[in-house]
Amino acid sequence: MHPIESEPGRAPGPETLRPLLPSPLHALTDDRFARRGVRLLLKRDDLVHPDLPGNKWRKLAPNVRAAVDRGCTTLLTFGGAYSNHLRATAAAGRLLGLSTIGVVRGHELADRPLNPSLRRCTADGMRLVFTDRSSYRRKAEPEVIEGLRERFGDFCLVPEGGSNALAVRGCADLGRELRGRADVVAVACGTGGTLAGLAAGLGPEAQAVGFPVLKGGFLGRETERLQTEAFGRRTGNWRLEDRFHCGGYARTSPELEAFAGDFTERHGLAVDLVYVAKMLHGLTTLVTEGAFTPGTTVAAVVTGPVAGAGG
Ligand SMILES: *Cc1c(COP(=O)(O)O)cnc(C)c1O
Repeated sequence: MHPIESEPGRAPGPETLRPLLPSPLHALTDDRFARRGVRLLLKRDDLVHPDLPGNKWRKLAPNVRAAVDRGCTTLLTFGGAYSNHLRATAAAGRLLGLSTIGVVRGHELADRPLNPSLRRCTADGMRLVFTDRSSYRRKAEPEVIEGLRERFGDFCLVPEGGSNALAVRGCADLGRELRGRADVVAVACGTGGTLAGLAAGLGPEAQAVGFPVLKGGFLGRETERLQTEAFGRRTGNWRLEDRFHCGGYARTSPELEAFAGDFTERHGLAVDLVYVAKMLHGLTTLVTEGAFTPGTTVAAVVTGPVAGAGG
């Protein structure tokens, strides 16, 4: 189902990253939802591709296609020390025979043993460059990018988290797959790219609810910007629930951990604490508070791997 290498004699392209699409959608019996007359579906986007799970495939595949079409042989991108996006980019590079460079936030990491996530990146051939936080913050500025070009030669740039117009349009397919299947769709948000595409693909009949996993309150503006860049306008069918990030990226709370443990016990699915557990915890809380009218069908998107390091 998932060929590991590009086929000989053919220009490698995203077709060699053959995904499982549409991703599986199945009903889950959960008494907290049943009590409120709400039907719960799980959209298993984590099963889209073993090395580029979930939204990472949906966002990267169109970017890789564009890069290959432009004759690019090197991808450069940015991420934190546990970034799923960096790992997915490294894997795409290995599968397609492209060089990859990962600019990692945190200069001090250069002197430490690599964590398992970054080890995976280097095992896939990614060259890692560690940068201090203030330069990392300026990574989108032309002079910073020019400096990287001087240092590494020509490359195609994929933004942090992989979110740009191409990525957002790729995520619209996730929404299209759910059209007519759900009234409300819940998704965990980092950069907002997945939410931006999902909402557009869903169409006006359904609502998307985003659960930010970072603190900061910037995500509404960012999602709007991404929708405008990708589709020329903001769609009116999404909102954010900002109460469930536990204080920031990769932060947890005893309540979140208890929720995740209980969810695993109930449903046999080990959810990651960085993204999916925060969304499911938020969604379950909303249902318990009576936020949805009886008869509502809610789909929760499992955006990424169900176990292992998050980011
Ligand atoms: C990257 C990631 C997200 C965040 O996606 P955005 O498009 O950046 O909002 C959500 N869930 C998982 C599992 C991820 O790896």
